Amino acid sequence: MVDPTLMCTKHLLGEHVELHMFVGCLVRKKTLSGYFNKGLLEVHSIRARHAALAREMLRRGMQHKSPLQPFRSFKMGKINRRQSKLELARRCENCQSLINRAKGPRAPQRVR
Ligand SMILES: [Zn+2]
Ligand SMILES: [Zn+2]
Repeated sequence: MVDPTLMCTKHLLGEHVELHMFVGCLVRKKTLSGYFNKGLLEVHSIRARHAALAREMLRRGMQHKSPLQPFRSFKMGKINRRQSKLELARRCENCQSLINRAKGPRAPQRVR
């Protein structure tokens, strides 16, 4: 749930693959409770999040040929967005430098 423009390509693609995996699990009614328990998944945000990641992939000149398979969305899960961003910055130097650059004093506020 970090702004896709602040993610390194590896994490951008990684989360994209995960979203497809989540939908696959939802369709096959596999349990995702581990993700819910850790606050890593919001079912109701999957569709919009996938669209945002796909848009950023195209913007970086990558291909995106994998529409999300149809699934029934419902309200479930809660992601802590601030926590996710801190965690990503802590775990990945590349994401960290993108996030820090965006935090710079003269960086315009992103309106989305
Ligand atoms: Zn996709
Ligand atoms: Zn990264």
